[in-house]
Amino acid sequence: MTPYDTAAQRDDDADTQRDALPDLAISAVGVDKTYRADGGGRVHALKSVDLEVPRGGIFGLLGPNGAGKSTFINILAGLVIKTSGTAKVWGIDIDREPRQARAAIGVVPQELNLDAFFSPREMLEVQAGFYGVPPSERRTSEILERVGLADKSEAYSRSLSGGMRRRLLVAKALVHNPPVLVLDEPTAGVDIELRQSLWAFVRELNQNGTTVVLTTHYLEEAEELCDRIAIINEGQVIACDETRALVERLDNKELRIVLTAEISALPDSLQPFNVELSDARTLTFRYRTRETEVREILDAVSAAGLAVADLSTEEPDLEDVFLALTRGDTTAA
Ligand code: ADP
Ligand code: MG
Repeated sequence: MTPYDTAAQRDDDADTQRDALPDLAISAVGVDKTYRADGGGRVHALKSVDLEVPRGGIFGLLGPNGAGKSTFINILAGLVIKTSGTAKVWGIDIDREPRQARAAIGVVPQELNLDAFFSPREMLEVQAGFYGVPPSERRTSEILERVGLADKSEAYSRSLSGGMRRRLLVAKALVHNPPVLVLDEPTAGVDIELRQSLWAFVRELNQNGTTVVLTTHYLEEAEELCDRIAIINEGQVIACDETRALVERLDNKELRIVLTAEISALPDSLQPFNVELSDARTLTFRYRTRETEVREILDAVSAAGLAVADLSTEEPDLEDVFLALTRGDTTAA
């Protein structure tokens, strides 16, 4: 069985080319979403989002809380209705062929909602039925095995630990064998050990051909796991690039040096650096760790005859990165 060859898709018209693997696992053009909030207000959650997720990789949708990550993936999964724009999952337009598009994607939701009285096995069977996977094609035991819940298959879900519940939700998202798996903030509130095992599992799924999309608000998580990252902020995609290229763009540090005495102007010998005199006693250097070492800066400062009273470094956090990118600040972008 090929990853995209699900029961729900096979009974569809055969003239559309299901067998040709699409280059893009997901493509969105101008996707816009406005929620009507309680009290009559409106929330513009997505602002004309264009996004392409290539087939075969692990893609990170990175952004702070409220950025619109869940809204975006819930639109793809058919759980939220977009206001305008077009989107395709595995080459299938979500408006024109909603059922087939839904069959191509599995979503592991952010919330750990499970029916407390179903066992993991029952839950997967119900889910498979929901997706129209015939009993002969169900892989319930295999999936439970894969997520490490084989020995819990008959337990009440309410007796499962948080980590087991998370894995059960992953299992649920896999019953219809979707070629695209989306994990919405998979490690929020998850301890380090479980995080590592979840990541190992995600990598394994990916190596076996599943395109993975994960949303996160941790830069390090996206950096460690994803080969490509899109940064979304206030409903807008503000950067999308290969992880390596993106991290390089974000490789900015600031070194503040407080001098023992005031100076009236920057010494000429420091001109080659990106440095400013923040006040009469403070020099602020901006540099990339790849290009400049702190040692070089300190040597130059002392060669200029300046004595250092104190120094501190600062790395940009995600907020700074967003600000820099949205401003089009050239030191970060
Ligand atoms: P993220 O997943 O990145 O944290 P969300 O997509 O959940 O962001 O939310 C984006 C924005 O849309 C937020 O301002 C949020 O409050 C709002 N929002 C999300 N869901 C709803 C809803 N059902 N009704 C009204 N506003 C919503
Ligand atoms: Mg969310």
